[in-house]
Amino acid sequence: MALTKATHRVESFALGAWTPPDSGARAIESAITGERIAEAGNDALPFADMANWARATGAVALQDMTFHARARMLKAIALHLNERREILYNLSYDTGATLRDHKIDIDGGIGTLLVYASKGRRELPDTKVYLDGPPEQLGRAGNFLGQHICVPKRGVAVHINAYNFPVWGMLEKLAPTWLAGLPAIVKPATATCYVTEACVRLIIDSGLLPQGALQLISGGIGDLLDHTGSQDVVTFTGSAATGLKLRSHPTILAHAVPFTAEQDSLNASLLAPDATPGAPEFDLFLKEVVQEMTVKAGQKCTAIRRIFVPAAQLDTVIEGLADRLSAIKIGDPRGSDTHMGALVSRSQRSAVHAACEVLEKEADCVFQSATLDDGPGAFMSPRLYRCDDPDRATRLHDTEAFGPVATVLGYRDLDHAIDLINQGGGSLVTSLITHDPATAVHVATGIAPFNGRIYINNRTAMAEATGHGAPLPHMVHGGPGRAGGSEELGGIRAVLHYMQRTAIQGSPDMLSAIGSSWMPGASKDLDKQHPFKRRFGTLDLGDAIQTEPRTVTLEDIEHFAHFTGDTFYAHMDEEAAKANPFFPGRVAHGYLLLSFAAGLFVEPDPGPVLANTGLDNLRFMAPVSPGDAIHVNLTVKSKTPRNDAYGEVRWHVQILNQDETPVADYELLTMNAI
Ligand code: NAP
Repeated sequence: MALTKATHRVESFALGAWTPPDSGARAIESAITGERIAEAGNDALPFADMANWARATGAVALQDMTFHARARMLKAIALHLNERREILYNLSYDTGATLRDHKIDIDGGIGTLLVYASKGRRELPDTKVYLDGPPEQLGRAGNFLGQHICVPKRGVAVHINAYNFPVWGMLEKLAPTWLAGLPAIVKPATATCYVTEACVRLIIDSGLLPQGALQLISGGIGDLLDHTGSQDVVTFTGSAATGLKLRSHPTILAHAVPFTAEQDSLNASLLAPDATPGAPEFDLFLKEVVQEMTVKAGQKCTAIRRIFVPAAQLDTVIEGLADRLSAIKIGDPRGSDTHMGALVSRSQRSAVHAACEVLEKEADCVFQSATLDDGPGAFMSPRLYRCDDPDRATRLHDTEAFGPVATVLGYRDLDHAIDLINQGGGSLVTSLITHDPATAVHVATGIAPFNGRIYINNRTAMAEATGHGAPLPHMVHGGPGRAGGSEELGGIRAVLHYMQRTAIQGSPDMLSAIGSSWMPGASKDLDKQHPFKRRFGTLDLGDAIQTEPRTVTLEDIEHFAHFTGDTFYAHMDEEAAKANPFFPGRVAHGYLLLSFAAGLFVEPDPGPVLANTGLDNLRFMAPVSPGDAIHVNLTVKSKTPRNDAYGEVRWHVQILNQDETPVADYELLTMNAI
């Protein structure tokens, strides 16, 4: 599938069919040779029909699946792509990317699918409705509750992506989109859309996706946004200028179409005063900065653009950075010893050169290696700038040179550094290199309102730290203000962007039925065989038992105390216990009550309950004195299949005393044979 000398005609995938470029097609050049290698774009694509088709087929099919079924689908797609990733590597070299860059874009995209596949099965239920938080008791007697639920929107997600991550940029959005149950129309940036096209082909050809779940627009987006509505979601990744244009599209404004923007940002890295030359943090800082300047030839939205160092360290830092930058080998990205490839195109290089001219009004260029900037491809030497008067600089804080370019600025003290960092007007990420927790507290709280992510690295974390510039699927990616004001990733948070949160109010039975989770106060079935004797598949929500009572004696308490070593005075010393505001005198241990509860409800013989895997939300609510009698209400709250052999049962457990006063409340987890 490597590109041949003949121009590759990058197709779109619309209404279930591949469509070649036509009128409106644009030429795409190789970043390495500057030659025309492909063309993409078709103004005649049926944009309105594509949106309708996605809603009518893709959304329906995906929303017929549970979260777990969609998570399994993500995993299968990820594994399918992983086996074929060389195809994508081979194509990607022409974007100027090296093998190291492919690992971020292609492997990173596949990894993101896998993380969402795993989180989907661990953190979402095997149902179609997500419960957002616990129920709220809205009436005195507990017969009127509130519960926030999230359900998938009934529309399509339109993803408009930047050129620098043709695979990750698509997959990091598709993972939460599909997990939520929405189909997607992906519009990659034209400059690298041939890589995205290949990835979409692999996914479509896998047969793992339902029809309508994925369409691709290679080239211009036509009038697609005119056909979006409130049930759709539009996401954008790219420059602030395009972001502004798209977010103010009349249809997006008129229909309040959810719009997520991930834009360029003037990210920073801060060398703290404690990280002096000789400290492990100093070298770490140099390493991170050089890495960020050269990975993807600096074409990363998270790359470090502003480097803040104590004013006294300016010379030493610049010397160290220049030393390392001069060792970077720039050239054919296929070369095994190449560290840095090319920018995506010569026009992108011109844009970076133009941005450098702006920087040069406020900073001096202190490093530039052998000039490659006039060759046939889009190669560019890294450029390091120095600013001695950061208080007078303005353009350094708002000019993104989207290439291997960064500026070193000296700061007087931490408050000065915080002020300068925040002049970026909102960033995706700032890194802080320090070994001093007090510095970390001061800086993190000072810059957090202006940053989507803060990355703190030092000698303890460095062996495992994932890098300043790496957005992780677990953590929020996005930033305020200049960075677009939105969030992506962040685990299940991203899934919820494609869903509607609705507050449901009603009786416990109503809410239990809607949420597929038994709520306190809902109906119970006490008449069936003991639920511990029944297999996973035969348990229904609300199946329950009420145990016989058991009287707790002083001997029990003393025995437990000496047996476990827990001779806390509240259990052993009547006077001291009485003096405590919580206890009427000596009381039973909470853990004794849990143990007695288990003794009251477990079934001793081997059976379908395979293991107790934990308990959640434990609260001790009232003391139990010697002579009190406790009993237990055990109810099936929810069920989550884990594999073909067993599933997890979440039990609501309430321990009550002889007056029916709850003394403890918790959720017990067991694994039950299917
Ligand atoms: P761009 O020029 O703004 O383009 C981004 C996307 O918008 C492309 O798909 C582009 O399509 C499309 N587009 C442009 N004008 C449009 C219009 N009028 N209507 C509909 N779509 C339109 O950005 P880029 O050059 O691809 O990417 C570089 C920028 O992206 C940098 O500034 C970088 O910081 C930012 N970025 C941010 C993130 C993040 O996560 N925050 C990630 C990566 C990159 P065409 O290519 O067909 O014009």
